[in-house]
Amino acid sequence: MSQTAAGTPSGIETTGTPDETVPTIEHWIDGASVAGRGERTGPVYDPARGVVQKRVHFADVADVATAVEVAARAFETWRDVSIAKRQQIMFAFRELLNARSGELAAILTSEHGKVLGDAQGEIARGLEVVELACAMPGYTKGEYSENVSTGIDVYTLRQPLGVVGVISPFNFPAMVPLWFFPIAIAAGNTVVLKPSEKDPSAAVWLARLMQEAGLPDGVLNVVHGDRVAVDALLEHPTVRAISFVGSTPIAKHIYDTASANGKRVQALGGAKNHMLVLPDADLDLAADAAVNAGFGSAGERCMAVSVVLAVDTVADELVAKVRERMSRLTTGDGTRGTDMGPLITREHRDRVAGYVDVAAADGATVVVDGRDPQVDGEPGGFWLGPTLVDRVPVSSSVYRDEIFGPVLSIVRVEGYEAGLDIINASRWGNGTAIFTNDGGAARRFQREATVGMIGVNVPIPVPVAYHSFGGWKESLFGSAKSYGPHGFDFYTQEKAVTSRWLDPSHGGIDLGFPRHD
Ligand code: NAD
Repeated sequence: MSQTAAGTPSGIETTGTPDETVPTIEHWIDGASVAGRGERTGPVYDPARGVVQKRVHFADVADVATAVEVAARAFETWRDVSIAKRQQIMFAFRELLNARSGELAAILTSEHGKVLGDAQGEIARGLEVVELACAMPGYTKGEYSENVSTGIDVYTLRQPLGVVGVISPFNFPAMVPLWFFPIAIAAGNTVVLKPSEKDPSAAVWLARLMQEAGLPDGVLNVVHGDRVAVDALLEHPTVRAISFVGSTPIAKHIYDTASANGKRVQALGGAKNHMLVLPDADLDLAADAAVNAGFGSAGERCMAVSVVLAVDTVADELVAKVRERMSRLTTGDGTRGTDMGPLITREHRDRVAGYVDVAAADGATVVVDGRDPQVDGEPGGFWLGPTLVDRVPVSSSVYRDEIFGPVLSIVRVEGYEAGLDIINASRWGNGTAIFTNDGGAARRFQREATVGMIGVNVPIPVPVAYHSFGGWKESLFGSAKSYGPHGFDFYTQEKAVTSRWLDPSHGGIDLGFPRHD
C-alpha cells in the first residue's frame, strides 16, 4: 500500500498519477492517505462544467479488510478513552468545522454542484449532530436501582459495539456522514466510512479534520469505492453494525445482506414526498414552500417535495403562484449566486429530463419545461431547469418513480381524504407536509399519515439533531432512525448488572430461581 501526503489548495489529500491529467483521491486509513491495492478508479465530475476533475481509487476486498483491521485495533484503546477526553475531541472538531466550513462548502459545490448557500446549510445541519455528540454522556449513561432485593443493586451500562460501517449517498456528502460518525465515535466505536464515489472528497476532508481535533489514528477511516467495497463491509465478520443511506433497492440489499451476516443495520432508503394543500391554506406560503422544497439542491434531496396534492378548488390559483415564482429562479454555477446548480452526472440529468416526455405521453400538462434552461455557467454542465407538470395521473411513472431532480408534479385531489389516501398508498413514507389553517385537519393528518416525518405548514420537516430522523415503509429498513436518541441506542449495547457486595447477612444455599425479597 503506498502512502502519499500531497495536498491541494482545498486541503483534499490527492496524488497525481503518471498516466492521468487529473488528481486522484485516496482512502484515509489509520490517519494517513493511502492509494490501496485496488486497481480500479472512478471519475469525479465537476458537474457545473461537465468534465472529470479527479479520479477516486476504488477499494478492493483486501483494502476494506485493512481498514476494518485498523479500526478493530483502534477500538481496543478508543473504547477505554475517558468520556471527558472523547467529549473534548468532539468539541474541538465542532470548533474546527465551524471555523472552516467555507472550505468544505467549496468542496461540496465543486463535486456535487449544489449552490454555495445550500452547501453551507448542509454543513450547518451536520454541525447540529456534532453538537449532539458532544452531549453524549447524557444519552449513554445507564440507570441504577438500589436494593432491588435485600442488599442487591441493578444497574445498566451502555457500551460501544466495536467497528461500525457507514455507507453514504451522493446528495449530502458531508451531512449524511455527520449524521452517523460523530455519535458512533463519541459512544466509543471506531468507524469505516464508505462515502459516495460520485463526490468522495468531503469525507476525507472531515476525517482529516477529526485528526486535527485530536482523534487517534484508526478511529475514523474512509474507504472509497462501489459495490465491491460495500459488500466487503457487509460481509466482514468484525464489522458489528451498518448505517446506510441511499436508494431503496440498495437499502433493501444492505439490510438483507448485513442482517444475514448478523449485523445491526439501519438502512435509510428513497422517498417521494407529498405536500397536501387544503383550500384554507395560505396559498402564498404554500407556493413558496413548494418551490423551495421542490427545487432546492435541484431536487436531489430525500426530503424534497416532489408531489403537490392540490385540492381542486384552489389548484389553478396555486399552480399560477408556483409558476410565477419559478420564473424568477436562476440556474447555474453554484459559486455564482444562482438558485439552483447542475445535477450530479450527465446520465442522471438525462434520466430526469426523460420524465418530461413521459409526463406529456401520460396525459399530464407540462407547465414549465426545464430542458433548455438559461444558464449562468459553462455549456457543458449537467443542467436541467426547474420543471412543473400538472394533472399528473398517479398511474404515471412520473408520479410513481423517485425522480430525484427538479421536476415538481401537481396531482389534483377532491379533498383531504383523497390526498391522504394517495400519501398512505405510497410505497415510501419519508416526509410529508400539510398546508392548512385548520388545526383539526393538521392534527388528523399527523395522526393518520403513514409517514415518518410530518410537516405542518413546514415543507421539509427534517427533525433537529435531538429528535431522530427516519421514514416509514420503504424509506427505512430496520427499526433505528438516524441521530437523536435512536443514534445513541443504535451505536451502544446495553448490559444489565445485578450486584451484591457482601455484608454479614449473606449466605445460604437456595436452588430456586432468583426472587426479590
Ligand atoms: P445509491 O443507493 O445509488 O448509493 C448509496 C451508496 O450505496 C453509495 O455509497 C454507493 O456507492 C452505494 N451503492 C450503490 N450501488 C450499490 C450496490 N449495487 N451495492 C452496494 N452498494 C451500492 O444512492 P445515491 O444515488 O447515492 O443517493 C440518492 C438516493 O439516496 C435517493 O434515493 C435518496 O432518496 C436517498 N437518500 C435517502 C435519505 C434518507 O434519509 N432516507 C437521505 C439521502 C438520500
